[in-house]
Amino acid sequence: MVIKKVRTRYAPSPTGFMHVGNLRTALYEYLIAKSNGGTFVLRIEDTDRERYVEGAVDVIYNTLKTAGIIHDEGPDKGGDYGPYVQSERKDMYLPYAEQLVESGKAYRCFCSKERLEKLAENSEFGGYDRHCRDLSQEEIDAQLAAGTPYVIRQKMPLEGSTTFSDAVFGEITVENSELQDQILIKTDGYPTYNFANVIDDHTMGITHVVRGSEYLSSTPKYNLLYDAFGWEIPTYVHLPLIMGKNEDGSVSKLSKRHGATGFEDLVEQGYLPEAIINYIALLGWCPKDNREIFSMKELEQAFFIEGISKSPAVFDYDKLLWFNAEYIKAMSEEEFTAHAMPYYKEVFGDKPMDYAKFAGILQKRTEKFTDIPDKLRFFAELPEYGTELFVNKKSKTNLDNVPSILREAYERLKALPEWNADSIHDCLINMAQEKELKNGTVMWPVRIAAAGQTVTPGGAIEILDILGRDESLRRLEKGLKKL
Ligand code: GLU
Repeated sequence: MVIKKVRTRYAPSPTGFMHVGNLRTALYEYLIAKSNGGTFVLRIEDTDRERYVEGAVDVIYNTLKTAGIIHDEGPDKGGDYGPYVQSERKDMYLPYAEQLVESGKAYRCFCSKERLEKLAENSEFGGYDRHCRDLSQEEIDAQLAAGTPYVIRQKMPLEGSTTFSDAVFGEITVENSELQDQILIKTDGYPTYNFANVIDDHTMGITHVVRGSEYLSSTPKYNLLYDAFGWEIPTYVHLPLIMGKNEDGSVSKLSKRHGATGFEDLVEQGYLPEAIINYIALLGWCPKDNREIFSMKELEQAFFIEGISKSPAVFDYDKLLWFNAEYIKAMSEEEFTAHAMPYYKEVFGDKPMDYAKFAGILQKRTEKFTDIPDKLRFFAELPEYGTELFVNKKSKTNLDNVPSILREAYERLKALPEWNADSIHDCLINMAQEKELKNGTVMWPVRIAAAGQTVTPGGAIEILDILGRDESLRRLEKGLKKL
């Protein structure tokens, strides 16, 4: 047997944004190609003009690029199997359909719209009644001579069954009698999706067809077409559904009410493309070890079809957040600062700040970059706060002891010859020791006065260091006045 070079295709319809299901399909197609030294093709399926959305093709390009799912062939890159946009291939489908008519595997159907509508209302079969399937040659010729519009339908076998094997779902058998004589070519001469995808996949040399499990039920029809042409059937890889968690703990098909489901929306909400891809790779696929963190290059090595599961995968936003935080922690300080910069600017504008110090307090604690402005706002402006914030049981602070502690800390800090994290640290720790206080009893009021809030990234020392001497002392004075 000749081993064919693996060729996969991602075949989106430009109908709007790219949700995680589409993205996972694209990713797995890419990974199946790359893990086998194969070729990944992008084909735009734009024949359904009613569903076409302006700008949607750009969304596809941008998403694939940002996600690092790079196609080898496609409308923008060319290749030996073009054109890669379905509407530009429209003239190639009719001859194939006519070939099937000749060989008796398809037929022309002249039924009027009115007849079909009536049929749809009261059909026991729940579809087309095969009225034109056995027209005589004279009847056909007469209709053609009269110029009656027609569609071309696939002639499904009336008996027996069709079995196929899916790489994920295993062997599947359907009774042929359940298959409709589906339309291959519409009255306008253009193909239906069901016909075009078979012609395209074959003529583009696609070896592995990867798509959502909603296509499982159509696959026998596609295989009957491959058989009718005498073409080799590709390997099918149907992917499990993606579910979302409902508030009551149940799951249902992932939709917007579960949260953002579009790749661009997730990025906008602060998820890193690498983290999204890593998470989505594991949404229905399990590596041989239980490893979780994978770069795209590592996925290209590790991916294998047998690791894909047929049980529905549940999209878990908490898990995605965990991946995001892991990717943030793994960044160098420079990378972190570069990513955080737009969010710093949101808070501080062009005011010069010691951004390296921010990385020190934020990097370990940041799950999403979009959380940064809220975490830092108190540096730009001291929030209004009440003296009750000075009271903390664990730190043993109360409104009786805080005024003198804060006063003493203020005086000691004011007297510091140098202002940096070490000098501030030593100053406050020494004070606690000399006064026989818990460190927290000194740190708590200082931090509250400096930040005006109880939850802060970093402790008193880091905050004073970043604020600088003048601003720190100003804030401590303000706290003292309040008390
Ligand atoms: N254009 C189809 C879609 O976007 C592609 C399905 C397939 O992969 O064959 O759903």
